[in-house]
Amino acid sequence: MKSLIELHFDNRFARLGDAFSTSVLPEPIAEPRVVVSSASAMALLDLDPAEADSLVFAELFAGHKLWGDAEPRAMVYSGHQFGSYNPRLGDGRGLLLGEVLNDAGEHWDLHLKGAGQTPWSRMGDGRAVLRSSIREFLASEYLYALGIPTSRALCVTGSSTPVWREKQESAAMVLRLAPSHVRFGHFEYFYYTNQHERLRELGEHVLACHFPDCLAQPEPYAALFQEVLERNAALIAQWQAYGFCHGVMNSDNMSILGITFDYGPYAFLDDFDAQHICNHSDDTGRYSFSNQVPIAQWNLAALGQALTPFVEVEQLRASLELFLPLYQAHYLSLMRKRLGLTTAEDGDQALVERLLQLMQGGAVDYQLFFRRLGEQAPADALRVVRDDFIDLAGFDQWGADYQARVEREGGSQAERQSRMHATNPLYVLRNYLAQQAIEAAERGDYGPVRELHAVLSQPFVEQLGKERYAERPPEWGKHLEISCSS
Ligand code: AMP
Ligand code: MG
Ligand code: MG
Repeated sequence: MKSLIELHFDNRFARLGDAFSTSVLPEPIAEPRVVVSSASAMALLDLDPAEADSLVFAELFAGHKLWGDAEPRAMVYSGHQFGSYNPRLGDGRGLLLGEVLNDAGEHWDLHLKGAGQTPWSRMGDGRAVLRSSIREFLASEYLYALGIPTSRALCVTGSSTPVWREKQESAAMVLRLAPSHVRFGHFEYFYYTNQHERLRELGEHVLACHFPDCLAQPEPYAALFQEVLERNAALIAQWQAYGFCHGVMNSDNMSILGITFDYGPYAFLDDFDAQHICNHSDDTGRYSFSNQVPIAQWNLAALGQALTPFVEVEQLRASLELFLPLYQAHYLSLMRKRLGLTTAEDGDQALVERLLQLMQGGAVDYQLFFRRLGEQAPADALRVVRDDFIDLAGFDQWGADYQARVEREGGSQAERQSRMHATNPLYVLRNYLAQQAIEAAERGDYGPVRELHAVLSQPFVEQLGKERYAERPPEWGKHLEISCSS
C-alpha cells in the first residue's frame, strides 16, 4: 500500500509531444469535498482506501494540488458525432494528469474530468456538474462489477463552484482511470488533417504500449484493427446481453482498447424495449439500444478509414465483415449463460429471439426476469415471471420449450441457481436510483450515493437490508429523460 504522494509517474503519452496534446494546468474548484470514492479503483494504484479521507486527496482531485511528476495535458482528437465528421474535438474539459506506474508494472492514465478550460473547449466552460460526475462514477464501477470492460472511476469531488446548465448547478470532477485514453477519434484527427507521419507515431505508441502482440505480427496495423474489432464485438455483446444503452456512441467516445468509455446519458433497460433511446437529444434514434450493434461496426469502419494509409482497404473490409458473426457468437453464448444453459443446441438462437419478441411491448423487467428465472425450478419460475407478458399463450409455449431445453441438460436446480445468480445481477444501476442518490448529493448528503455504490459493487450477492435496491422501478422512474447536458 502506498500513500498518495508516493505515486510513481511514467507519462508516455505526454512524451509524444505537442502535436498530440497541450500542457494545461487544472483550474481548481472551490471548497472541495470527496463525494464518493472506489476502494477497488484505488487498489489499482496500490492506494490504501483510507487515503480517500485525507485532505490531500480532495485537493489533488479538485485541481488544487499536483504531484511533481504529473504532466497535465489536454489531448487533441476529432470524430464522427451522430454520423457527421467534427474536425476538432479534443479534451475540452478533461486533462490527462499523467500515467501512474503501479507495483504490478501496469500504467494507469489519471484523467481528471471537469478540470477547466483547454484550447479545445470551444464554447464550453470546461466544467462537469455533480450530477453527471456521479453518473459516470456509478456506471464505471458498476460495469466493472458486472465484468464488462470499462474505464474506471477513482472518485468524485464536489465543490461550491457554481456552473450554469439549464439551471445553476455545482461543479465537480471525476477522476477516471484507464490504461489508455486514446479514442478512435485520435486516429481520425491525424488522418483527416493529412498528418500521416503523426498518425504513424500514434499507431506505434498504441501498438507498443497496449497491443504488443499485434506489434509482433507481420502486419501490425492490420492486426491492430482486427484486435480492436474483436474486442468491440465482445464488448457490444455484453452491452446487449445486459441491457446497457450507451447513448452517445460517437467515434470520439469509442476507446481504442475496446472498453466502455465516456458515460453520458446511458441507461440500463428497465422494461425490455429493443428500440429504447436513452439520450433525450437523439431524435432519430441513431443510438437506440438495438442500433448499438450496427453503430459499433459503423464506428469501426470510421477507424478503418483512418488506418487506410497503413492497411489495404480489402483487408480492412474483410475484418469488418467478421464483426457481426463475432458479435452474434459472443451474444448467444452470454444469453445462454443468462438462461442458465451450459451446452449449445441449434435452436438456442431462436429461443433467445422468441423470448425478446415476447418481451417487446410488454411490461417485462429485462433485469429481474433473468434473476427470477433462476430462483426456482423452471416450472415454478416461469409461473412467477409469466404475468408481465402480453402474449400469454406465446409465453407458455416458450416456457414449455425452455423447460424441455433445461431438462435435456440435466443437472440440479441448486447448481442451476448458483450459476444463474452468478450471471444475472440482483442489483441494477437504474436511472431512478442514480437520480435519487444525485438529488441527495446535491443537498450535501453523500450517504445515498455511497450506499448505492457499495450495493452495486456486489451486484450478484444478495445483501441484507438492501431490498429496496432490488425492486422493480416505479412507473415514474422508468422513463426519466437524461439530456446530453453535463
Ligand atoms: P462528450 O459529449 O462528453 O463526449 O463531449 C464532446 C466534446 O465536447 C468533447 O470534446 C468534450 O471535451 C467537449 N465538452 C463537453 N462538455 C464541455 C464543457 N462543459 N466544456 C468544454 N468542453 C466540453
Ligand atoms: Mg466524449
Ligand atoms: Mg462525456
